[in-house]
Amino acid sequence: MSEQISSSEPSPVAVLKDALHNFEKVALSFSGAEDVVLIDMASHLVEKLSVFSLDTGRLHPETLRFIDRVRQHYATSLELTLDLLVPEPVALEKLVREKGLFSFYEDGHEECCHIRKVAPLRRHLTGFDAWITGQRRDQSPSRTQVPQRQIDAGFSTARRQLVKFNPLAAWKSADVWDYIRDNDVPYNELHDRGFISIGCEPCTRAVRPNEHERAGRWWWEESTHLECGIHLMNLDQEPDQTNDSGG
Ligand code: SF4
Repeated sequence: MSEQISSSEPSPVAVLKDALHNFEKVALSFSGAEDVVLIDMASHLVEKLSVFSLDTGRLHPETLRFIDRVRQHYATSLELTLDLLVPEPVALEKLVREKGLFSFYEDGHEECCHIRKVAPLRRHLTGFDAWITGQRRDQSPSRTQVPQRQIDAGFSTARRQLVKFNPLAAWKSADVWDYIRDNDVPYNELHDRGFISIGCEPCTRAVRPNEHERAGRWWWEESTHLECGIHLMNLDQEPDQTNDSGG
């Protein structure tokens, strides 16, 4: 594994080690995009890995094929559990029956993202003490303060504190792509067609030169509004300094 380091902060591998070695119940979130590098790094650190993807029902077919390719690719080096989290059917049916399949173009993405992403994630995370995401500070103006480790204010409960690790926080997009090339990591073919940030098909488009990568998400809404709700509660939060590594 060859790893570029672009800051004085702990490397992504060091942050991953903290998460994977100190927490028994830890899940890695995989969006079907360049965060695949985290699975590759983890494959050198542990023998078993619990990964999940949010199968919103609106992903590009290329992304679904890529998720399955990743499952097969790492199955030889890792005992990989890859859960696809689907929306709760009653809530989804109600939304579609009442508002159709593209209501987010009319009244914003929150309602649909909540049903297809946030609620399934909340359910899944109740089984874990920590989770790992591919968030980076350079992805969007809303993510410039993302720490490498934090208490998850959005998904912790009164009875259970959830720690969130963002190992790639200090990396730039170029660092990620150097890692993919240097380590021959598989990647989503949509990246070769101008997609940088990859999400649901109706809400993602290729970006133009010099546009911010999240400009390709929910482009019909305010540029300050380009988060789906999964990370929103944590974006202005201080890093977790406790480093108690419980779990
Ligand atoms: S990104 Fe778009 S299609 Fe996907 S859950 Fe959010 S609003 Fe719905």
